[in-house]
Amino acid sequence: MTEVDFIIVGQGLAGSTLSYQLAKLGKKIAVFDTQRETSSSWVAAGLFNPITGRKMAKTWRADDLFPFLMQYYSEIEKNCGERLLNKMGIYRPFVSIEEQNEWEARTADEAYEKYIERVSQKSEFVPIKDGFGGIHLKQSGFLDVQNYLEAMANILKNKGVIYKTELFETPLMNLDSGHVKYKDIEAKRVIFCDGRASMENPYFKWLPFKLVKGEILHVESKMTLNKIINRGVFVIPQTENHFRVGATYDNFDLTLSTTPKGRLQIEAKLKELIDVEYAVKGQYAGIRPATRDRKPFIGIHPKYKSVGIFNGLGAKGVSLAPYFADQFAQHLVNQSALDKEVDISRYFSFYNDNVSVTQYE
Ligand SMILES: Cc1cc2nc3c(=O)[nH]c(=O)nc-3n(C[C@H](O)[C@H](O)[C@H](O)COP(=O)(O)OP(=O)(O)OC[C@H]3O[C@@H](n4cnc5c(N)ncnc54)[C@H](O)[C@@H]3O)c2cc1C
Repeated sequence: MTEVDFIIVGQGLAGSTLSYQLAKLGKKIAVFDTQRETSSSWVAAGLFNPITGRKMAKTWRADDLFPFLMQYYSEIEKNCGERLLNKMGIYRPFVSIEEQNEWEARTADEAYEKYIERVSQKSEFVPIKDGFGGIHLKQSGFLDVQNYLEAMANILKNKGVIYKTELFETPLMNLDSGHVKYKDIEAKRVIFCDGRASMENPYFKWLPFKLVKGEILHVESKMTLNKIINRGVFVIPQTENHFRVGATYDNFDLTLSTTPKGRLQIEAKLKELIDVEYAVKGQYAGIRPATRDRKPFIGIHPKYKSVGIFNGLGAKGVSLAPYFADQFAQHLVNQSALDKEVDISRYFSFYNDNVSVTQYE
């Protein structure tokens, strides 16, 4: 038997950050990950943006999350010697004078001031339809998620983590001893960072997940952009002439197939935003592990104390994972408090020991 402190199931954004923080605290880890190419993380655009949503409000816990993510990804970049985090401003065109005035007023608001670079009252970018000007945001950018995941697998292996590219078969796990026995590994705890698979996980399917499919396009165009453009869709400059454009939100179709409807939706919004020739070079789909209250699911199972979860990162894995992985690792190792808003204990009343499948709204 190989003895470890933690088995981590899944090496998406959640599993990568949690494994790293636990290894940093001196814990022995075994990671299981398979089918990464179908994970939400693999298709994600990697955007981190402090002002989000239709109402363009400051994102939940931005003042904690954003300084932390900058420091975390820069630490990872030093570890692997690669650039992974692209700090880049966001430009959001206004659609009316009223909106322009509203943002002028917000620049004086202390809560927003550190995320606003400036308000522009007239058109600034040639291909963008921005007749009313727009707002320039800062402390934003995107993570090169696929390279990050590859880099993390290597960093973890270099830190002595046992890395298994295979399916973790939850029914084969034995918890009788109070520890976790799985094949030839014995662990004090197993933490599921299994993304959408938690919906079928016998230990956590009672949690109110609200999965959301997303589709994204990879586009080629001769336009030059030095900002992320965001209105209806985001347009993220990648390498020269290459852009990511997305994304859709669909609660009903939870298949992994790309759809003509998804492509049409994205292209329609792109044409509203930018007047430019382009060619679609790829279309990708993934399932965001979102939750009913839009807050992560973190904590230990109400009955099985050797089983935990780090999930529910929804549409914001890049910004949520670093801060909450650190918090959860401290909780697991040093028993420090978990934020009540993310702790799964907020849903313990949903757990029924006798009924393994429960219907939720
Ligand atoms: C189109 C799209 C665009 C997005 N854009 C952004 C964005 O711009 N910014 C942002 O922050 N977020 C974005 N997201 C959301 C982001 O992808 C998620 O928040 C994040 O990836 C969730 O990470 P995760 O590790 O929890 O889950 P996942 O990425 O799904 O990872 C789970 C991993 O666990 C593995 N696994 C599951 N079960 C097992 C098992 N039994 N054994 C072994 N391995 C297992 C899976 O194969 C997978 O590798 C986007 C999502 C989509 C779909």
